[in-house]
Amino acid sequence: MAEEIYPNLFRITIPLPDSPLKYLNSYIIKGGARNLIIDTGLNRKECKDAMMAGLAELGVELTSVDIFITHLHADHFGLLGELVTEKTRVYFNRPDTELIEHWQGFEPMIQYAANHGFPEALLRKALHQHPGFKYGTDWIPSLSILNDDDVLEIGDYRFTCVQTPGHTQGHTCLFEPEKQFLIAGDHLLEDITPNIQCWDDRTDPLKDYLASLEKVRPLAVDRVLPGHRRIFENYIGRIDELKHHHEVRVQEVLKIVARADAPLSAFSVASTMTWDIVADSWEEFPIAQKWFATGEAIAHLRYLENQGRIFRTAEDPVVCFGAANKG
Ligand SMILES: [Zn+2]
Repeated sequence: MAEEIYPNLFRITIPLPDSPLKYLNSYIIKGGARNLIIDTGLNRKECKDAMMAGLAELGVELTSVDIFITHLHADHFGLLGELVTEKTRVYFNRPDTELIEHWQGFEPMIQYAANHGFPEALLRKALHQHPGFKYGTDWIPSLSILNDDDVLEIGDYRFTCVQTPGHTQGHTCLFEPEKQFLIAGDHLLEDITPNIQCWDDRTDPLKDYLASLEKVRPLAVDRVLPGHRRIFENYIGRIDELKHHHEVRVQEVLKIVARADAPLSAFSVASTMTWDIVADSWEEFPIAQKWFATGEAIAHLRYLENQGRIFRTAEDPVVCFGAANKG
């Protein structure tokens, strides 16, 4: 069902079966000759059915649609290939496009996870549960790149692109300065915390994410239209909560490493951190969630490592971290 949020701006909720995120918010703007879809859903039938039903209810034909994608993840990007026609312009950001262009399959991610202590046998299983593997898209249409500060006009709306690296390297929000709302993708969510994962040692996604929270803080935003869950108004309050959440998390990871008898891998750190997931123990965690948890542990470890608060005691076969004060 399509819900009108602002004049000619609608939300369609796209179900994400088996995901703790529950659904994706896809925003549809009716702009006259051309319409805009913001984020699409997974490449699976349940998502496509919901999208097509929503568009039909709004009287929007795919041939009149352009598409803006906030970031690379399969729940935002995956259904794209099913929606584009010859006439569709697909707007996307440069850093995530480069990841697509340099994509070498899941093997480098698997090697990286194994190098951070994720048991090899579990990894293969985890991959087959990964939404990007199951419901991603193999076919990528040509992409129109939008950079930071670029303007995207559709109907009565004039958006400024705000690049907010962290959740992905090129994650981009759309800010409507006159109407004072922010289409936030997964940069700001209300009752869940955006997942900050690291899968490449050349990056420090948590540092980027915290900087991106500061970057959006000065924007005059009355209302946030996020990629998942509820639309919300507590803009500055939520930015502060998210910052605080990661400060607490960083402290927790530091403590885990400092109190351990021996240096730890990211996988062991992940198994010791507290998680907001319904499972009795780490062993009971769904495998895909273990994958995300490990990526999140790595992000926090890399952040601490770059600040010189922990250091690597081993690289091969498994990267281990120790606290700086233990030498
Ligand atoms: Zn995401």
